[in-house]
Amino acid sequence: MELRILGYYGGYPDNGVGTSGYLLTSNGYNLVMDLGSSTLLPLEQIMDPLQLDGVLLTHYHHDHTADFGTLQYLWQLRPGDKKEPVLPVYGNTKDPLNFAALTFGDYTKGIGYAGDSEIQAGPFKLTFLETEHPVPAFAVRVEDTTNGKVLVNTSDTRYFPELAEFAKGADMLMADTNFFADKPKPRWHLTAPEAGQIAKDAGVQTLLLTHLPQNGNLETLRKQAEQTAGNIPILLASDQDYLRI
Ligand SMILES: [Zn+2]
Ligand SMILES: [Zn+2]
Repeated sequence: MELRILGYYGGYPDNGVGTSGYLLTSNGYNLVMDLGSSTLLPLEQIMDPLQLDGVLLTHYHHDHTADFGTLQYLWQLRPGDKKEPVLPVYGNTKDPLNFAALTFGDYTKGIGYAGDSEIQAGPFKLTFLETEHPVPAFAVRVEDTTNGKVLVNTSDTRYFPELAEFAKGADMLMADTNFFADKPKPRWHLTAPEAGQIAKDAGVQTLLLTHLPQNGNLETLRKQAEQTAGNIPILLASDQDYLRI
C-alpha cells in the first residue's frame, strides 16, 4: 500500500500544514483515513477526490474531521464522475450524534464500527481497538490483503499496554506523538518515549511519528523516541509525504 500524508499536526493547522489526514492506496483503491483541518486541498493536489472509494474516521475530534464536512459538500455540489455515487464513511457508533452526521442525503453514508468489528474496504481489512482518549476513539489495523502488509495507526490515545499487542508485527506503526518526554500527566496523547516503547514491544518494522506538536524541535522528539525503540527506524511525518508499505 501507499501512504500519503495530507497533514500531520495535532489540534490545529500551522505554517501551511494541516492536522491529521492520510491517503491509503492499494490496487487503485483510495481510502482516506481522517480528514483534518486543511487536508482537503493537499488531497486535491494528489488526486480528484471524486475518485475516493471510502473515508475512515478514527474519532470525531475536529483535528481529524474538519475537512470531512466540506468533502460532503464537494460530493453534493461538484459535477463529475464519482467512483462511488454514495461515498462510504466508516465511523464509530459509540458517539451516536456524530455518527449520524456521517450520512448526508444521498451523498455520503455512515457505516458503523466498534471494537470487535472487522471491515473489508476494497483490499484493506480493518480491525479496531478502542483507545484511552476523552471521546470514543479507535486505533486501526489496516491489512492490505493483496500482499499481507500491515499499517497500524494508534489514532489519539494515552499510553496503555494493549496498544503494543494490537500493533504486533506491523510493517509500520503510525503513532500519535503529540508530546515531548517531559509532558506532565494527565495526558491524552503519547509522549515520544511511549511511542518508541510501543514500537519496540510490538516488534514493528518502522515507526512513524505523527500528530506532531507545533512547538519544539522535532528532531529532539525523534531522538526521544529512539531511546526506547531500540534499533527500529523512526520517521517524522513532517519529513515524509509519500511512503510505500
Ligand atoms: Zn487529534
Ligand atoms: Zn483526539
